[in-house]
Amino acid sequence: MAKTAVKVKKASSSVKRSIQPKGKAKKTRVAKAPVVRRYKCLYCNYIYSPLRGEPHNGIPEGTEFDDLPDTYVCPICGYEGKGKIGTWGFEEWKPTKYICSMCGYIYDEARGEPHHGIKPGTKFDDLPDDYRCPVCALDPKITKFFGKVLKQGFDAIDVV
Ligand SMILES: [Zn+2]
Ligand SMILES: [Zn+2]
Repeated sequence: MAKTAVKVKKASSSVKRSIQPKGKAKKTRVAKAPVVRRYKCLYCNYIYSPLRGEPHNGIPEGTEFDDLPDTYVCPICGYEGKGKIGTWGFEEWKPTKYICSMCGYIYDEARGEPHHGIKPGTKFDDLPDDYRCPVCALDPKITKFFGKVLKQGFDAIDVV
């Protein structure tokens, strides 16, 4: 639909509105992306991530740990019969390794990707927005069917 979408309002009072440029407006990125705060159950090592939430438990994705209901209990501990571990049984957890959900490649912050100009010690959150999985990038099948595997395609993992 390329019809003119500008509706001219004939208001009696003269309202000065800045007109939004149509079409390709440049998206200005505001500072940094919000930091994802994950929490780990100290009893079973289950990790709560706001990126994922627990939709099957009625917790929509995007729910911060701080916003969990008072009745929240660790789903794994409950399942394994360890009792009801509430939010008190969790502590903030900062992952240092991330796995590509597509190919299993692991980005290790300690290692970085020096051959791609990413220094050792570079936080995953600090990777450029156009960072893509280097392994998937080399796989024509994945590129063809899934496109570029960007940061969003990675999951934090808890391995030593
Ligand atoms: Zn647990
Ligand atoms: Zn990959």
